[in-house]
Amino acid sequence: VSGKVSARIENRARQLFHEGWPIGPLPMPCVCGAPRHAHSGPNRTGRHADTGCYRYRHDPADALALRAAKAASTGLVEAFRRYSAETMPRPEVRDGQFKVGPSDYGRCPRSIWYRENPPDGFRPLPEDKRAAEVGSMIHDAALAARRHLYPWRHIEQPVVVPGLDRPGRPDDYDPITGILDDVKTAGRWKWDMVGQDGPPDEWWGQVHIYGLAKQAQGHHVTHVRITVINRENGREEPFMRPFDEAYAKRCLDWLLGVLTRLDLGEELERNRPGPSTDPLCQRCFARVHCWNLDEAKELGRSGESLTLLGRHPAEAEIEKVGLEYVQARDERLAAHKVEKELAAVVDGIPLGTYGEVVATEKRNGTYEDNKALVEQIRAWAALPERMRGPMPPLEAPVREKARSIVWKRRRASTRQNKGEEST
Ligand code: SF4
Ligand SMILES: [Zn+2]
Repeated sequence: VSGKVSARIENRARQLFHEGWPIGPLPMPCVCGAPRHAHSGPNRTGRHADTGCYRYRHDPADALALRAAKAASTGLVEAFRRYSAETMPRPEVRDGQFKVGPSDYGRCPRSIWYRENPPDGFRPLPEDKRAAEVGSMIHDAALAARRHLYPWRHIEQPVVVPGLDRPGRPDDYDPITGILDDVKTAGRWKWDMVGQDGPPDEWWGQVHIYGLAKQAQGHHVTHVRITVINRENGREEPFMRPFDEAYAKRCLDWLLGVLTRLDLGEELERNRPGPSTDPLCQRCFARVHCWNLDEAKELGRSGESLTLLGRHPAEAEIEKVGLEYVQARDERLAAHKVEKELAAVVDGIPLGTYGEVVATEKRNGTYEDNKALVEQIRAWAALPERMRGPMPPLEAPVREKARSIVWKRRRASTRQNKGEEST
């Protein structure tokens, strides 16, 4: 059932839905009125003599009622997931080719290896992609708006990236301005990171590789831009750079290197420090296999320790790591001392912006002042009985914790814009 449904079918479907279905196997009635199982043939799709039916066809009203029942309990994100899968299927590649694309630039090579050429018996862990899916909703809606408003732009037009098996789909290229734009959504963690340091190298690399692909099609790319939208509050920040062809080629080479090693059947290396400390490893579908987490748990060691040092590390190896650890700690202690000395120097400076740096006040939340509550009750109890009013309510006053002053670099895009103004 798709498109417009006749009022007759709709009315019957409504009736069927409200009548409900019997418990047990669904009857799946035929247009002849008989249930499916009364039809002949191994699949019960043949004749039914009693009604003179020659072939089973699911009653469209029953089919519609069943679909409506299922849809009624399908969540928004799940519906979007199905919609994306149906309207924008992942590009297929032929046998022996790999689905490595521009968005893999900078990704942990080993996670690409797990995805493309997994070892025997490897099973990916389930991933929670809901935040990413909400990001895709925003992304798709934003591009649909641009497609409508700016019909001359190339929105999500497939391109062949020289050397890659899988076509890519850059978000938005404007042949008039020469700006190639990539839209990224960010949760709080990403937003703060991008605010401090600008977009990560992976994002710049990806959009630059698309730039190469556009150039290969004969288009002129002057600038690449990354537009970041905060999923939480709708703020957005654009970051723009001139298109750098040499950098783009280096990024593409990195991807081609990964592809070559996949072709050769090599096991690719990790470029992340491990699930004890790294948020990406912590969310990676391969973390248990990659870091031998099951075995490590049995042995009472961390995945990193077992994987990097082995079951029976030699004394010299332990010594080496131990020394590195001691050195890192000493450097931290030294840095912490300098930090405290500098904190003393900025102490008492008014809040505000000073060039590239801002001093802001950070709220630290509230707390229930139970001490004050006890005091109130004591004071009340201490009064002579005739002077006491009713007992005060047993609610601790809520107070704000002391605010702290945080020194930060200004958001990267603000610094950039200011730089542009002054030139
Ligand atoms: S767990 Fe970490 S190191 Fe291993 S594949 Fe995943 S991201 Fe890479
Ligand atoms: Zn029938």
